[in-house]
Amino acid sequence: MKSDPFVYDCLVIGAGPGGLQAAIHLGRYNRRVLLIDKGAGRTTHAAHIVNYLGLVAVSGRELIATGLEQVKEFGVEVLKDTVTRVEKDDVFTVHTPDRSFQGRYVIASAGAVDNLPRLRNLGRFFGRGFYTCVDCDGYLTTGTKLLVMGNSLNAVRLALGMKQMYTDDLTLLLTDFALPLDYQEAVREDEIAVYSGEPVALFGETGLEGVQLADGRTLPCESIMATFGWRLNDSFLAELPLDRDHERFKILTGSSNESSLPGLYVVGALKPGHSQAIIAAGQGAVAAIDINQKLLEL
Ligand SMILES: Cc1cc2nc3c(=O)[nH]c(=O)nc-3n(C[C@H](O)[C@H](O)[C@H](O)COP(=O)(O)OP(=O)(O)OC[C@H]3O[C@@H](n4cnc5c(N)ncnc54)[C@H](O)[C@@H]3O)c2cc1C
Repeated sequence: MKSDPFVYDCLVIGAGPGGLQAAIHLGRYNRRVLLIDKGAGRTTHAAHIVNYLGLVAVSGRELIATGLEQVKEFGVEVLKDTVTRVEKDDVFTVHTPDRSFQGRYVIASAGAVDNLPRLRNLGRFFGRGFYTCVDCDGYLTTGTKLLVMGNSLNAVRLALGMKQMYTDDLTLLLTDFALPLDYQEAVREDEIAVYSGEPVALFGETGLEGVQLADGRTLPCESIMATFGWRLNDSFLAELPLDRDHERFKILTGSSNESSLPGLYVVGALKPGHSQAIIAAGQGAVAAIDINQKLLEL
């Protein structure tokens, strides 16, 4: 394995909004920064981001591509590779399959992946009728015939919330989860029809028209909000002793986004909080400013 003896000020893992914003700030302090990204992250799946200050409408792919150009202007090195392991001794060592790099600080901004049911035609309707993020795309379901689907209490709570915000015509499909007794009255009062079953396909000619279940039933709808949880892109951190939330899932940080391991910062979807591009970017800026202040103290 080729090991680079050069010690970077900061190694940034993941070029989502969190990592890119951190790299922009660090680059503008003339810090030596390497951004390692394997590509095709969660943000690139956003067909249209409309809730980001100053951007009237941009696709996630455009946002990331512009960010990558921007970081290079400030001298940040960008490497397309997959980080497999992070170690800490006097400095951090970040490994990819064939190389390793050293840095005084690390920002983990590798994001998460949505758990999705295996549905025929999902690719055709993803971001065009089928959504997974209420803060991102809930607005697009306004006034539509909406189906909320999921496999946990989150789906029930999401249905009640969406009924209040977006539409009167709402159906709830629960997979592998029974509606809890203490929610039955609220759901009845809101006139939400509840089904259980396994969705297997989406269908529609020009737009989404419904979902087909494994037992042959079909549920008509014009939009779907699905909630099946997510998986974190954090396997490269597995060997590090990091404080996690009570479910041992998301990585806890302080207000500057530094984790319980000094020098390792975590931003974006890897830490608790709302998964929004603008929030991840803000966290990236906070982490970078904090790291720069520590470098000044050095
Ligand atoms: C369909 C969809 C629509 C969305 N719409 C909006 C919206 O309208 N508005 C909004 O604010 N937010 C939206 N979001 C959410 C937004 O994308 C997230 O908030 C954002 O992804 C979080 O940013 P991040 O920096 O944590 O990670 P990501 O954007 O997930 O970026 C992480 C990067 O790290 C890389 N990576 C992962 N593992 C490794 C590794 N081991 N080594 C190297 N690189 C790695 C990934 O390839 C990726 O490039 C949407 C998300 C989806 C899926």
